[in-house]
Amino acid sequence: MVKREYEFWFCTGSQDLYGEECLRNVAEHSKIIVEKLNESGVLPYKIVWKPTLITNELIRKTFNEANLDSKCAGVITWMHTFSPAKSWILGLQEYRKPLLHLHTQFNEEIPYDSIDMDFMNENQSAHGDREYGHIVSRMGIERKIVVGHWSDPVVADKIAGWMRTAIGIVESSHIRVMRVADNMRNVAVTEGDKVEAQIKFGWEVDTYPVNEIVESVEAVSESDINALVDEYYEKYDILLEGRDPEEFKKHVAVQAGIEIGFERFLEEKNYQAIVTHFGDLGGLKQLPGLAIQRLMEKGYGFGAEGDWKVAAMVRLMKIMTEDMKDKKGTSMLEDYTYNLVKGKEGILQAHMLEICPSISDGPISIKCQPLSMGQREDPARLVFTSKEGTGIATSLIDLGNRFRLIINEVDCKKVEKPMPHLPVATNFWTPKPDMYTGAEAWIMAGGAHHTAFTYDLTADQMGDWARAMGIEAVYIDGDTKIRDFRRDLMLGEIFYR
Ligand code: MN
Repeated sequence: MVKREYEFWFCTGSQDLYGEECLRNVAEHSKIIVEKLNESGVLPYKIVWKPTLITNELIRKTFNEANLDSKCAGVITWMHTFSPAKSWILGLQEYRKPLLHLHTQFNEEIPYDSIDMDFMNENQSAHGDREYGHIVSRMGIERKIVVGHWSDPVVADKIAGWMRTAIGIVESSHIRVMRVADNMRNVAVTEGDKVEAQIKFGWEVDTYPVNEIVESVEAVSESDINALVDEYYEKYDILLEGRDPEEFKKHVAVQAGIEIGFERFLEEKNYQAIVTHFGDLGGLKQLPGLAIQRLMEKGYGFGAEGDWKVAAMVRLMKIMTEDMKDKKGTSMLEDYTYNLVKGKEGILQAHMLEICPSISDGPISIKCQPLSMGQREDPARLVFTSKEGTGIATSLIDLGNRFRLIINEVDCKKVEKPMPHLPVATNFWTPKPDMYTGAEAWIMAGGAHHTAFTYDLTADQMGDWARAMGIEAVYIDGDTKIRDFRRDLMLGEIFYR
């Protein structure tokens, strides 16, 4: 992951009707707000103050400069006083980046003893922000609205959350997915329209013959492999389970070669996400397991069985959560098997091998076990259980005429007992609002068995991203009722047709 030095512009709206002194105060106030928000330590990116916007020309010029500035990832607007909204039409029309409308006010409390008409005219965002909001709504422009006093930590948190969504919006078009295998035969939900995905999300999804990446794996030197194997043996527990230690190590070394060879090939060709397929491995000796797990941990997107939509979504979430303090992880997961005991319901999440260690809790072990599918050597893989807490599972599906993003809030838990015979990493969660409603809604919406999962983003952040991409988002959370959810889907059929 290479963090780009993005920043956000803070543009305050006003007009010259109330004189020079008022405009001086407006500028001073907005500078203070920017300074304090930057000092809050909550924002993942810096806010940059811009001179007060009072004329059509300046508004238009500023928005166009924002478009062209590669560091600017979005604009935050706030109307300190009244700003006639026709002045904003041309600028907004030409603006192409994420937009936040911060509906705040400089003073927190009404100054009861001193308030007069001058004060009210100077501090009328309650009034000016409505005029501005009207034109943004009338023009049908997607924006986030955050309401509250700028010193409130809740407000700073919301701005911080939107910044990550904005980064997802501007960075989406830099995601390139390498397919070294096609979609698994006969599988429906992992398929999709790659041309439409590029139009909607900006994703480039390209195929390479698997044996081209095999050449890169075979070119890795023995000393590079040995050094990485040493790193594995230092970092992870080794669970031989009766296997010969030397033979075990050779299996692990195959994954080390795959990790290095894949990463070099991806870097050389400038891809940030990859899909594989257990049924199309060419000259690879093992299904990439441990190797893919490590690449995901480094920030690459991954989808199994040719699932390029999940690969791109995992990469997107990795970008959106980059550099987050105390983040808990992001991975591809798959709904595998249920616990349907009353009061203990949940879905065991796993895959054949490829779960990202960023979601792990406690020690990580290497195991080497036969794979029931494919015809290769027993692959080495990282085995662990996952963190507890709330997360979101997302599934991007292609409905034939459009994409839909399904977002389910889930409660991740520990399973009651260890599962010593299960040779894969797992997570275990109960979907909200409960197992039965959650699964019913997911299936009704057409959600896949593969998901892009994260602990570190909210349903609102991903829903805001989907809206910015011009696609439908449906939420399954604590408030979901089946009859309302069915109506949401019906409305989506009409709206996104
Ligand atoms: Mn799968």
